Amino acid sequence: MGESTGPRPQTQGAPGSAVRHRSGTEKNRFSYIFSWELHERLLWFCKLRWLAALGLALASVLGPYFSMPSTSPSLAVVAVLVALYNVVFIHVLRARLGPEKDYAALRGLAILQMVTDLAALFFTVHFTGGCSSPVLPFVVFHMAIGTIMIDGRTMYGLGFAVAGAAASLFALEHLGVLAQVATVVGGRSTVGSCVLSMAMLVVLVFGVVYLTDSVTSRFKARNIELHETSTELRRALEEQAQVERRKSHYMRISAHQLRSPLGTIKTSIQVLIDGYVEPGSADGRRLLEGTAARVDSLLAIVNDLLELAKMREGRARAPWTRKVSINQILADLFDALDPYAREANVELIPHFINEGAAVLDWAVPPDLVYAFENLIHNAIKYSKPGGGTVTVALGIDRSHAMVVVADDGIGIPKELQDDVFLEFVRAPNAKHAQAEGTGLGLSIVREAAQMHGGKVSLESAVGLGTTVTMVLPLHHIPPEIIDR
Ligand code: ATP
Ligand code: MG
Repeated sequence: MGESTGPRPQTQGAPGSAVRHRSGTEKNRFSYIFSWELHERLLWFCKLRWLAALGLALASVLGPYFSMPSTSPSLAVVAVLVALYNVVFIHVLRARLGPEKDYAALRGLAILQMVTDLAALFFTVHFTGGCSSPVLPFVVFHMAIGTIMIDGRTMYGLGFAVAGAAASLFALEHLGVLAQVATVVGGRSTVGSCVLSMAMLVVLVFGVVYLTDSVTSRFKARNIELHETSTELRRALEEQAQVERRKSHYMRISAHQLRSPLGTIKTSIQVLIDGYVEPGSADGRRLLEGTAARVDSLLAIVNDLLELAKMREGRARAPWTRKVSINQILADLFDALDPYAREANVELIPHFINEGAAVLDWAVPPDLVYAFENLIHNAIKYSKPGGGTVTVALGIDRSHAMVVVADDGIGIPKELQDDVFLEFVRAPNAKHAQAEGTGLGLSIVREAAQMHGGKVSLESAVGLGTTVTMVLPLHHIPPEIIDR
C-alpha cells in the first residue's frame, strides 16, 4: 500500500471503536498507532484521486465518441474540481495534519474526503446518464474503501445518505427538474430501470459495507492483540536487559572490592619473597599479621557475597520452616553479641513486648539470624567512641511482627539513607569510624526482609543515632510453598 512518511510503529491500524474502550496513555498510544495507518491510507487515497481526475478529464474529451456530447464541459469542470480539492487535502495531510496528530482529527478528514468524493461522484453520475450511468458502480467501490479507512458504523450512516442522494437524483431527473443525459449503455432510462438500479445500488452498498466491515474488524482485532503481545514482549525484554545490567554492575563492583585487598596482600608477600623483610623478624611478623587480617576481610566479603547470591537465586531451595519464634532468635543473638557489645562499651537493652507471641508461620531461620545480627552488629559497630546504648525492641500486632534496633551512635548522613541498602555503599563517617566493612550487610538485611514478605526502613541523624525497623508479616506464605 502507500508509502510511509517516516518511521512507523509495528502494528497496523485499528478502528475508532477499538480505541474507545481503552483509557489514558494506553488510549493515546493506540490512537497514535492508528493515526499512522489512517494517515498513510488517506495519502494513498489522494493518489488514487489523481487517477479519478484524469479519468474524468479523459471522459470529457472522449464523451462525444460515446454519444454523450453534452457532458464534456460538465465532466471537465468536475475533473478540475476533483484535482483542486485533492491538492487541498494533500496539503492538509502533509503540512497540517501529520500522523502524529490526533486520530479523531484524521478520522474527521477521512469522512470529509468520503463525502466530497461521493458528491463529485453523484455529479458525474448525473452527467453520464443518471441511473444507467456506467460510473454508478464506483459508489460501491467508494463505500468499501470508506469502511476500511473509517469504520462500519459510520459507513452504514453514509450508506443511507448515498441511497437518499441517489433516489433524489433519479427522481429529479424523471420529474424533469434536472436534464436527463442519454448514455451509450442504455439510452434514456425508464422509471422501471431506475427503480431496479436503486434496488441494486442499495443492496450492493450495504452488502459491501457489511462484508468489508466483518473482514476488516477481524483484522483490526488481531492487530490490537498483536500490538498488546508485542508490547508485553518488549516490556519483558527490557526487564531482562535491566537484570543483566544489574548483574554486570554487581560483578564489576564485587571484582573491584576484592581487587584492592588482594593487591595489598600481593605486595606484602612480594616484600617477604624479595627478602626486604625477614619473616621471622618483628617487622615480618607485623606484615604477616596484616596480611592475615586482609585475608580475613576478603573472606568476609566472599561470605557476604555468597550469602547475598544464595538469597537472590536460591529461594526455591531455601529451608522454609514452620512456626519460627523471633523472640528465640533475638534472645540467642543477645547472648552471642554480648561480648562484642561489652568490648565496645555498649549497653544492649532488650525491649520485648508480648513475650512469646512473635511467631512467623513460615521463615528461613538462618536468614533471619543473619539479618538481625547485621542490624545489631551495625548498631554496636557505629556507636560513638565512648560507647552508648542499643535498644532492640520486638512488637507485634494482629498480622505483623516489628523488630526495631535503635542506637545513639554516629548516624547516617541524610543523602545516603536510601543508598546504604545498596551493595558496597558505606557512609564517609562510618568509614572514618570503622575502616573495616564491606557495605553488604544492609543489602542482605533487605533481601531477607523481602523474601519473608516484609520490608526494612531506617531513620537516622548524624551524631544522634539510627533506628532501623524491620516489619515482617506473621502469616506470609512464601511462593515456593504455595507452588509445592
Ligand atoms: P559490613 O556489614 O560488611 O560490616 P557495613 O556495616 O559498612 O559493612 P552495611 O551493614 O551494609 O555495611 O551498612 C552500610 C552503611 O550504612 C554503613 O557503612 C554505614 O555507613 C551505614 N550504617 C548502617 N547501620 C548504621 C548504624 N547503626 N549507624 C550508623 N551508620 C550505619
Ligand atoms: Mg554492617
